[in-house]
Amino acid sequence: MLRAWFASALWKRVLFAMVCGVIVGMMMGESAESIKWIGDLFIRAIKMLVIPLIFFSLVSGMTAVGDIGRLGSVGGKALLIFMTTALIAVSLGMGLATLFQPGVGLEINLSADTEIPPAPDQSLIQMIIGLVPDNPIMAMAEGAVLPVIIFSVLLGMAILATGEEGAPIARAMNAGSAVMQKMTIFVMELAPFGVFALIAWVAGTFGFEALIPLSKLVALNYGGCAIILLVVYPAILRLIARLPVIDFYRGIIDAQAVAFSTASSNAALPVTLRCVERNLGVSHAVASFTVALGATINMNGTAMYLGVIALFGAQAYGIELSWVSYGLIALTSTLGAIGAAGVPGSGLVMMSLVLSSIGVPLETIAFVAGINHILDMARTMTNVSGDAAVAVAVGRLSGEIDVEEYVSADDV
Ligand code: ASP
Repeated sequence: MLRAWFASALWKRVLFAMVCGVIVGMMMGESAESIKWIGDLFIRAIKMLVIPLIFFSLVSGMTAVGDIGRLGSVGGKALLIFMTTALIAVSLGMGLATLFQPGVGLEINLSADTEIPPAPDQSLIQMIIGLVPDNPIMAMAEGAVLPVIIFSVLLGMAILATGEEGAPIARAMNAGSAVMQKMTIFVMELAPFGVFALIAWVAGTFGFEALIPLSKLVALNYGGCAIILLVVYPAILRLIARLPVIDFYRGIIDAQAVAFSTASSNAALPVTLRCVERNLGVSHAVASFTVALGATINMNGTAMYLGVIALFGAQAYGIELSWVSYGLIALTSTLGAIGAAGVPGSGLVMMSLVLSSIGVPLETIAFVAGINHILDMARTMTNVSGDAAVAVAVGRLSGEIDVEEYVSADDV
């Protein structure tokens, strides 16, 4: 039996674990809390990989590209698609909320002890300054992904510019990247157990009755994510990459399962990277750059959700929105999605940015906080799938994808 378990593809085991998780969670109810530690263990193990993986992969990816100009063009294409899809996602969110009016007729009554998550206390300038780490080791120790990306990109460029003398470091980084990828494979063996425990915990302990008054909002969140997954990403794959969609989804199923169960793009990052490189055949250079950057700044599910929530709050409070307000929602939701860290619940914190820009009371956040996790799972899966789709598109545009690998049905 053990042999059959290890012989079957990981995604099949993970999917099996999800189904079992739902069933066991429903049976255990509240006591499913007692097995959550297995999921936490898995999340910790996978988070452990994130910083060294980003560091080694990005630097080795940079040096693999070989020239700084090409690097700029890869980055430029990725950023352009990130921004365009974010805007499409917010517009979709606003469109859905206008059509289905999830906030109309709701009265937001909150008890005195309801907590409103604090607004991000950083100005835009502080945020920009914070991108450059004054101490790269500290940035790594704090798990600050964007500053580590900046440092790694600069280091990669410096190695390239140094030429022959820098070559030994490039080789060491390459070796480091290969070793970290191997470590990812080890940790991923825990995935079925971790995913099982996390899904069981959600199914057993989540107060599903909290969903009923907000059922329209839940449906819009899941529906919006489904539209992005089934229309927007396939459009990117068909129109920009000119590659089949089925192979794409087959290739990233592990990453989606980890994203869904952990509600964290960062936790899914090592798996996404592996899926994009191994299953979809995107070159190491393009994959590491696009996926690492995407995990922190490319969040289409979050952007869509912020658009929905802004209108939801305005409807619930009976606030009329002008065209300027719609523009502000588009802008702040895109910025919010870029600024949200790839950790559970970060989209919720970014709501304050969007709501305050259009004068909707921040109590809206506390009102939806209770159902946040269940919505976060879907939008994180959408976010992570977007990183992979952009990696494929950029890979195709830059001639950095092995199409045979992409369409091959090999299970990794
Ligand atoms: N949890 C999401 C992510 O990691 C961000 C969000 O809360 O929307 O991608």
